[in-house]
Amino acid sequence: MKLTEIFNSGKLSLSFEVFPPKNDTAFDSVKSATEEIAKLSPSFMSVTYGAGGGTSRYTLDIAKNIKERYGVPTLAHLTCVSSTRETVRAKIEQIRAAGIDNVMALRGDIPKELLGADRSAWDYKHAVELVKELRESGADFCIGGACYPEIHPESQNQKEDIKYLKEKVEAGCDFLTTQMFFDNNLLYNFLYKIREAGVTVPIIPGIMPITNGNQVERAVKLSGSFVPQRFKALVDKFGDTPEAMKQAGIAYATDQIIDLFANGITNVHVYSMNKPDVAAAIQRNLSSIIS
Ligand code: FAD
Repeated sequence: MKLTEIFNSGKLSLSFEVFPPKNDTAFDSVKSATEEIAKLSPSFMSVTYGAGGGTSRYTLDIAKNIKERYGVPTLAHLTCVSSTRETVRAKIEQIRAAGIDNVMALRGDIPKELLGADRSAWDYKHAVELVKELRESGADFCIGGACYPEIHPESQNQKEDIKYLKEKVEAGCDFLTTQMFFDNNLLYNFLYKIREAGVTVPIIPGIMPITNGNQVERAVKLSGSFVPQRFKALVDKFGDTPEAMKQAGIAYATDQIIDLFANGITNVHVYSMNKPDVAAAIQRNLSSIIS
């Protein structure tokens, strides 16, 4: 099932993101966590992809399992940076053969050791090239791309970021999922700007429930997201008390999601990080809203 069918239905829904294991030892526990999340019957589940190898080989195993055993539509992530065309083409063929209809086309973060390297000879420099490759593969994929309400850290300014985003959509993206954000006004401003620039595909806001104090620093470092005072106060107060922080983080994410639904968003993607209890709690909090 193509995710655009869900986005175009106009029904309010939640989807969840999981990540694959790093090694064989962790495979069974990760698989079981993703299955617990699948049992919640989200509108779809995305499975991330480890750039430059690592967890990448498990992405398809997890996505296929969720789809086949639980009938949950899946979105397989794929990155292209520092990969050869041959490798990427082989991966695309594997996704198609696994019967996965939806692919998240990403550049991936540039590995640290390649940050200063000459990129001119790379087969893929930006996600737009992967989007084109997927379109040219002949498989009828529903393709997603990433977008950044607070601009991508490498962009000079938002105007430039949106210009490239528009090119990515014109190359064949059917929808865009956002980087996490903790202040919905940033999303609303971003939506206004991209719509004005002519980007009309569905935008799926990504919400990260922060359920332990240490997670904040890491998440913010990775995403560059702005942390509002309201959220900082909550971490200051509850960050050292795990159960309290978990409850507060789930409540904050729920509040963000309700506000998004109230303002016209129909599908929210939750970065559930292989935590079935967090996914279930958020879904429970919204049970009469997304029924
Ligand atoms: P791009 O769209 O290529 O953009 C990257 C930068 O290049 C931006 O600054 C953009 O403005 C600029 N740019 C784009 N096109 C051009 C062009 N033609 N010329 C010049 N500049 C250009 N990473 C993983 O490794 N695995 C995952 O599973 C994963 N999932 C993600 C899911 C979401 C929803 C998001 C938001 C991010 C995810 N990431 C993942 C992280 C992502 O790979 C990084 O943020 C990466 O740095 C950029 O990827 P992109 O696809 O947005 O790149």
